Amino acid sequence: MTLARNIIIFTVTLSLVTFVAFFGRLPAFRNTPIGFLHRLLIEHIPSALRKLDVKLTNGRITSGGSRLGHHLMYEKHLAVVIFFLGLVTACALLFLPSVWHVLRWHHKLTVCVLLPQPYFFLYLSAKRNDQTYINALNHAEQMRHYPYDRVLYYPGNACTTCKFLKPARSKHCSICKTCVSRMDHHCIWVNNCLGRGNYKWFLALLLSTTILIAYGAYLAYTSLTPMAAKHYAKYARWYTYHPSPGSDPLSWATRFEVKGHNTLNYISIYLDVGGFRASGVGLLALLTWPLPFGLLAYHIYLIWAGMTTNESGKWADWRDDMAEGVVFLGHRREDTMRENKFFPQPSDHSSSSSSPFPTPPETPPEDEEPHTTWPLESRHILIRTPSGQPPRTLPSRIRGVAKEDSFERVWSLAAVENVYDLGFWDNLREALLN
Ligand SMILES: [Zn+2]
Ligand SMILES: [Zn+2]
Repeated sequence: MTLARNIIIFTVTLSLVTFVAFFGRLPAFRNTPIGFLHRLLIEHIPSALRKLDVKLTNGRITSGGSRLGHHLMYEKHLAVVIFFLGLVTACALLFLPSVWHVLRWHHKLTVCVLLPQPYFFLYLSAKRNDQTYINALNHAEQMRHYPYDRVLYYPGNACTTCKFLKPARSKHCSICKTCVSRMDHHCIWVNNCLGRGNYKWFLALLLSTTILIAYGAYLAYTSLTPMAAKHYAKYARWYTYHPSPGSDPLSWATRFEVKGHNTLNYISIYLDVGGFRASGVGLLALLTWPLPFGLLAYHIYLIWAGMTTNESGKWADWRDDMAEGVVFLGHRREDTMRENKFFPQPSDHSSSSSSPFPTPPETPPEDEEPHTTWPLESRHILIRTPSGQPPRTLPSRIRGVAKEDSFERVWSLAAVENVYDLGFWDNLREALLN
């Protein structure tokens, strides 16, 4: 009973802290209690501890701690990979020998198929991937994957470290020290950036880990239930001498009448039978499988919405600025748009010839904005003005591309097209097969 309660409290607390620490920064949680807990955990508590340490020891304790924290959060290291694989390995070594003799052959076969998968997919996610890392050799090819949407990405921006033009949807990672194609995020679970080449392996890692952990919990339940029934038959035998009318001596209800009917007793019965090795690990699996499942569900949502984790932050910034009324949506001049693209139905705005400020087209040169293989191209340009007034003079990156008189204030993201969204199935195909 006490063991059951302690395991539950420990696992739930650890899962919650892990979830908040790693996922609380996601834009989806920005204005939620999880986002608040994240700021509390990552910013406010460390800063309060630093202030206290400065008063007490002149900052000696926290200077070492912050060096370690900086190393863990902002440098490449294998600590989290080793922790994750160590946990999976330790749980498998504790759990499987204790239940192997009661497992049916098809369960044994399924375990042999499922268990190696997280190791395999983690290796593929962590491996250096030339489709993900942009270098001088593949830069020209990387520039042709996605168009600049002029909402999240503009042509003509160079990476100051890599010294080449940033392809649309790419981002420089200061931890991996390279620009990453279709950057999703730098993931410390795989000690690598997730991008165009390895994002599919990360999805496979999440799916295989979810299935493995959930299957482990199911195996613990099915293999321990007959043992628990046998073990507690003695309570049933005891109960036959003290029967209550109409009760079945072998039923769970009877056993619960002996021990008290609540979830903790239910779990403690299994812990009595299977011990920490079988039941403890099974309980850990039952409580933790929602973590990889939740992350997988979040990435399925991102695929549905046609964006990466990196882009979800940029969209959230636009949404916040729109709510303040400082964002204006303009329409591109048709003569600056690429040919042979599919465009949604044109809007009812006046043509560029009626613009009061005729400007010669300043289409970026071919190496700055090459033709892409992407089927859509943006018709819009989004701009925020510090004054909150419609733009009078356009920034150079927009001048010549936008119709000057077409800017109108927008209050919602619904007014803006996401050209990287092709619809769920095409987005999924693009994420898995590029
Ligand atoms: Zn770079
Ligand atoms: Zn990285």
